[in-house]
Amino acid sequence: MKVVRSKVIGYCFGVSNTINKAEECIQRSREENLPCYSIGQLIHNKDVVEHFTSQGMRNSESPDGLEPGIALVRAHGIPERLRHQYEKAGFTIVDSTCPIVAKGADTIRKAAQKGYNTVIIGVKGHAETIGLLGVELPDGSGIRSHLICGMDDARRLCGSKVLAEDANIVVVVQTTFPEKEFQAIRRYLKTAFSKIRFSNSPCGATETRGKAALDLASQTDAVIVIGGKNSENTKGLARLVAETGKPVYSIENDKDLDEALLCKLSSYSSVGICSGSSTPTSTIRTIEEILEKL
Ligand code: SF4
Repeated sequence: MKVVRSKVIGYCFGVSNTINKAEECIQRSREENLPCYSIGQLIHNKDVVEHFTSQGMRNSESPDGLEPGIALVRAHGIPERLRHQYEKAGFTIVDSTCPIVAKGADTIRKAAQKGYNTVIIGVKGHAETIGLLGVELPDGSGIRSHLICGMDDARRLCGSKVLAEDANIVVVVQTTFPEKEFQAIRRYLKTAFSKIRFSNSPCGATETRGKAALDLASQTDAVIVIGGKNSENTKGLARLVAETGKPVYSIENDKDLDEALLCKLSSYSSVGICSGSSTPTSTIRTIEEILEKL
């Protein structure tokens, strides 16, 4: 079977930076004999997380009850209050927040200083959304951040009247939020608020990856998307390819290539493989080798 690799595959620059910093943290913790932590799951890939756990990096959600050490902020960032808690507890913070994610947080901070409320459009419970919601706003200003995860939330927010029709509002969007859904919410909010402005900084690396996946779908009989089950950009790639009508299969690693799936895949004469931005090239290569033997 012919196996075609997407032109954009493997880690994005934000995740690469986090991986490099994670290695530095482990090295430093060994030299200084300190515990090493990631604040929240390091990246959306369980194999990589397991690798770093085996090297001594422990996942943490709060500094409570932990021996202070080196704590890594992942690419998605963390709420400011949480960062302060770690610092206050004596941890050394190593920050690998992706600059594109940091830009959204910065927009919220600057807009709040000018008296703007924020509406954050993002996936509920996603680390980046939690980080954006956790940007500290000026005390006593009455300024707030409101989360919208979909059109229903947008309707609820407008109906609740917590924001006046002429309130100053800036909208910040999670970098990997689905574009079509964002555009629909945008149109709706524009009819409800007269002074609303939008600061959407979609991740260019994710857009390029999406275009490459579409290109791949046009050349092959089916597409395999490799990535963590909780990775938004992996899910986005699968959605994008599915819209072309090409069969798409989402797998996390080679263990998901069970007999039934291999049998199905062997019926195609060509298969394309692409990956989310948290998938290591070693995982991609292993899968490629298995498919090439079909
Ligand atoms: S997907 Fe984009 S925004 Fe997210 S870490 Fe990678 S480069 Fe940064």
